[in-house]
Amino acid sequence: MTMNYTIVHYPNQILLTPCNYVPVVNETIRSIFTLMERAMKDNNGIGLAANQLGIPLNMIIVKYGNNIYKVVNPELSVWDLSITKQTEGCLSFPDKEVTTYRYKEVQVKGLNEFGNPFDITVKGELSVIFQHEWDHIKGRTMLDRKYDKNI
Ligand SMILES: [Zn+2]
Repeated sequence: MTMNYTIVHYPNQILLTPCNYVPVVNETIRSIFTLMERAMKDNNGIGLAANQLGIPLNMIIVKYGNNIYKVVNPELSVWDLSITKQTEGCLSFPDKEVTTYRYKEVQVKGLNEFGNPFDITVKGELSVIFQHEWDHIKGRTMLDRKYDKNI
């Protein structure tokens, strides 16, 4: 059976609501990742959060080069407060680009698609993608990181 998906667009409330903790990583979770990967690739994305498909779970997927990272219950830690400024797009904001501020380097911890510990420290563009997707599951979007916000 092939599942279908719809990409949720801003300002749908599911994008503005924190997602739920995943208590166990099982076949259902893996099949959601399969769907997320397909949606990301179909739409030439480099990352996707589960709530962008209308699924309110703490699950993100990131594509970087030939690597695909699938993370359940991701948490970010920042050990270096250096900031980077860049332009971002988002599959939930068709044809929109926003200049954002992000941390240059973050540590991402969680579980992988098999329920094993996931722990990497990432820099540069990969760090920005992880921060973007992590924001999604916290109910935030790239608009919350706009460089001119509150200035
Ligand atoms: Zn996005």
